[in-house]
Amino acid sequence: KVKENGKNHYRFYSDEMNEEMLQDLELEAKLRHAIDNNEFVLHYQPQIDLNNDRVFGVEALIRWEDEELGLVSPGKFIPLAERTGLIIPIGDWVLEQACREAKEFHEAGFPNLKMGINLSARQFADNNLVEKISNILSETELNPAKLELEITESIIMKDVKESVKKLIKLKKLGVKFSIDDFGTGYSSLSYLKEFPIGTLKIDRSFVDQLPSDENDTAIVKAIIDLAHNLNLNVIAEGVENPEHLQFLEQNDCDRIQGYYFGKPMSKKEIVKFLTNEPWKVVDV
Ligand code: C2E
Ligand code: MG
Ligand code: MG
Ligand code: MG
Repeated sequence: KVKENGKNHYRFYSDEMNEEMLQDLELEAKLRHAIDNNEFVLHYQPQIDLNNDRVFGVEALIRWEDEELGLVSPGKFIPLAERTGLIIPIGDWVLEQACREAKEFHEAGFPNLKMGINLSARQFADNNLVEKISNILSETELNPAKLELEITESIIMKDVKESVKKLIKLKKLGVKFSIDDFGTGYSSLSYLKEFPIGTLKIDRSFVDQLPSDENDTAIVKAIIDLAHNLNLNVIAEGVENPEHLQFLEQNDCDRIQGYYFGKPMSKKEIVKFLTNEPWKVVDV
């Protein structure tokens, strides 16, 4: 009986695996179609400077709506794109589109707005990345200092020497960097000083249970201190309510981003958002 169960279990498991692979293949085909047909849009989430309660930047977040599947979350298709290499054409599109739209925001009356763009591992490893970004910057005439590339610790830690070289090259173009999802990857503390980064983004998993969870409060305070002692800015992600905000304000967090202030929104919506007081854009 035990054996039989074992077998059944194995078969069940393997059917599930097959189904997952089929779903992946289907999604991959749809993703290729989406790339060819330009089915992506960027949404923008505001980032607020707590020193003056003003917006200083936005993060570009990709959105894909498939005819059949509806809105597919980037949490689902970005990892697939990363596995299949499709992230390169998708990421190229994001870089170009976000820089072009950033320039439009600047010309629409928000000349100081920063544009945060997420880079995945393969994009960061792309040998042409520096050249691509350099070309995009000259084509769009975007002020490079207003471009902030978001990378995770694990991306940088894959090859520390190469990463430092690449970051220095990109820095020479004038762009800035932030470490996304900080605290969830490698413990790279000793390397932080080697990287020419400007900002740590506290992962929202540490923010979620503030201020009630003792471990999270300790971690968030420590990250804020660490950032300040290393002369870095610090922004908290996933700020959803006044309790989160109050804790972060009381503990000297510089900046915040989250549903409490604004969800990711379309280009049209973000312009409206920025136009309305008190969200005057400030230079930081
Ligand atoms: P991320 O870069 O850490 O982006 C933050 C995610 O948290 C976004 O999810 C955002 O919508 C969500 N978020 C923001 N505020 C809150 C909040 O208050 N509460 C909660 N529960 N969530 C909040 P999204 O847009 O689904 O993106 C998920 C991830 O997909 C991103 O995480 C990023 O790693 C990746 N991604 C998104 N767009 C791009 C892109 O254009 N290129 C690349 N390479 N990756 C992207
Ligand atoms: Mg990000
Ligand atoms: Mg993040
Ligand atoms: Mg992330």
